Amino acid sequence: MEILHPSFSPELAAPTRLEDLVAKEPFLQKAWDVAETAHAGQTRKDGKTPYFTHCIGVARIMYEEWGITDPEKLSVGLLHDTIEDTDLTLDNIRTVFGEEVAFGVESVTQFSPENEAKLIKAEADFESAKKVFAKTLIDPIVAIYKLADRLYNMRDMAAITPQKRTENGITSLNYFAPLAESLGMWVVKRELENLSLQYTDSKKFEIYSGLMEKDPRTNEHFIAYMTSFLTEKLKDEGTECKVSYRKNSLVKIMDKAKNNLFKDIDDVISFRVTVSSKDERSIRNECMKALGVIWEEFGGTEDQKRFDNFYFVPRDNGYSAFQVTLNLPEGAIKIAITSKEKEDYNNWGVLSSLKKGKTDLKKYALKLVFTPMGEVKFFPPSANGFDYAYHIDEKLGAQAMEMLVNGQRQDLATIIPNGAVVKILGGEERIAPDAGVVHHVLPKTKQKIDRQFLELEMTEQQKSGREIVTKIISQRGLLNLYDILRLKEYSRIIMDILDQLGSKGSLTRLYQSIGSGVVSEKDLISELDRNGITKEAMGFTSVLIEGPDGPGRLNFFTSTVEKLGGNIRRNYGESAKQIFTQHFVIENLNEGAEKKLGELLKKDPRIAKVIVV
Ligand code: ZN
Repeated sequence: MEILHPSFSPELAAPTRLEDLVAKEPFLQKAWDVAETAHAGQTRKDGKTPYFTHCIGVARIMYEEWGITDPEKLSVGLLHDTIEDTDLTLDNIRTVFGEEVAFGVESVTQFSPENEAKLIKAEADFESAKKVFAKTLIDPIVAIYKLADRLYNMRDMAAITPQKRTENGITSLNYFAPLAESLGMWVVKRELENLSLQYTDSKKFEIYSGLMEKDPRTNEHFIAYMTSFLTEKLKDEGTECKVSYRKNSLVKIMDKAKNNLFKDIDDVISFRVTVSSKDERSIRNECMKALGVIWEEFGGTEDQKRFDNFYFVPRDNGYSAFQVTLNLPEGAIKIAITSKEKEDYNNWGVLSSLKKGKTDLKKYALKLVFTPMGEVKFFPPSANGFDYAYHIDEKLGAQAMEMLVNGQRQDLATIIPNGAVVKILGGEERIAPDAGVVHHVLPKTKQKIDRQFLELEMTEQQKSGREIVTKIISQRGLLNLYDILRLKEYSRIIMDILDQLGSKGSLTRLYQSIGSGVVSEKDLISELDRNGITKEAMGFTSVLIEGPDGPGRLNFFTSTVEKLGGNIRRNYGESAKQIFTQHFVIENLNEGAEKKLGELLKKDPRIAKVIVV
């Protein structure tokens, strides 16, 4: 199945096979020979395949798929299981291959976030658990070795028991895919997720891989058409580029399908336009030009709300591209435009830096933080309690007050030590945290907080918009626009008014526009007048009454209205916590009758609050 294709990238990969490199590099040849001899006679789980094929496979992923060419690092790939499974000792390896290889093999042998998590679960007492795992940050190169090892095993599960497959799937989803993501190795993350899903939830795997396969956007003719169309159009404009595509992981799509129609998910497939040019400035100009071509060619289908400029302002994880969403008859698709170099980073993160010869990967170092349930989370070393809380859940982040770090109360701004167990203590329900928090957090967290502040501002604008609307419509015998939206002879008219005011189908959007001043009071008044939403034309009276609950309240009201000649068109209300609230829309009450009704209600001792408009 194509979605399970290996994480192979022609641009990143070295041009030769591992065997060719081994033949040229005596150091690597030595590692090969030593590992092969050490594992001699051992087989994989099927009892037939020599164990050493796994070691070759891990080094092959590192070299052929990930483009790592350093013989010492590839030697770690070949030797990684020798201390654990053979008679070789760490000292042997150190003597023959030196410190770097020995460090790599030792670290891979020890690195096991899933075991550490199990330990945390078993040992509620942190003090004893703490002694067991190393307190150093996760070295990115060790994580790379471990991910190659895990990826090989996930692709090679045919011979192992169903129970073990499920276990591997779970640990891959919980630890290794997030680890790959934390290092920016998105291609690896997606493959691990897809491979895991078929063992952790085979039903969902079937459903979603079926949906993916049948979707018109993943049809090979559509992909071929889009690819050649984009390539040709850009070529016509003199832009040199390569067009490729990528499918999102099933896990990610499943997640998005919870809140979206499948056809509206815009990254089921995304087309990637990578522009190459001689210098940064001309690359940027070419990207802008490509963007212009897409806007022009797909004019009517572009989703204005889903344009992202991550080219000039990269995401916190370093992702960098222009992104356009098109609503095509086949469904929504995303087109990303960026430079070849940036795309390499978008796909491979830390590996892309490693390949460029940047050996100092310290900025990618990660710490482990455990949830009280023993789950593992990966963070940059500077992460504090706010970062942790927002990572777990944005709502929790907004409400967080304090945290327990290994059982001790701490301020949320405290940097969490590596390996700590952290529990967030929440406060009252709220949308956004206190102002000022935003200065002490990781960029990723800051983005989330900024969004919450925007939302808070929006709800406040909506509130003030709603007050303005209420004031205007109360002069028209209405307390709420929903009231007449629900009456069949008016619903069409109200929808038209919303359309006219740029608030298509949504009262909330109207409140927002008026609250923020995009639509003026005058605009609303003249639209209402023009459409006959006036007291004179409709002849409505609206009433709100509130008071302590008791028998006969509603009957008393209805009979009073009828006696005055009125006809109740709509009523709704509730009696909660012994308070009775009712809301009515009445027609046919003349001015005198309306006044009379108000007086009667105000005199009634059972009613605490009356509004008549
Ligand atoms: Zn292994």
